[in-house]
Amino acid sequence: MLPEHLKFDYDIIYIRIKKVVFDLVFSIIGVDYMKKLKSEKKLCLICMEEHEVDIVEMIDTEIFKGEEVTFKAIYEYCNVGDELLETEEMIRANSLAMKDAYKIMDGYKKL
Ligand SMILES: [Zn+2]
Repeated sequence: MLPEHLKFDYDIIYIRIKKVVFDLVFSIIGVDYMKKLKSEKKLCLICMEEHEVDIVEMIDTEIFKGEEVTFKAIYEYCNVGDELLETEEMIRANSLAMKDAYKIMDGYKKL
């Protein structure tokens, strides 16, 4: 386990890498994977400027119990830095969405 003070930075780097990979994959198949739900003017924690920050829904993939699980996740998107951020509330909601998707997937396998 990473020490607590490093954990947040690690998450941000991880999300940044994921965005780069997703941009590449989805540009190849020509699908827009990010859907804007709304935008809010606030202090953006990515670029540390106040601007309209988009709340976006996107297709995400995580490994859970050794299985690749695809689900819809919510992120904040900074169009200045072209980067995504997951707030604590979003981390919780995204983790629930991922586990729900896993349960559905697991249920199908038992059929
Ligand atoms: Zn920003």
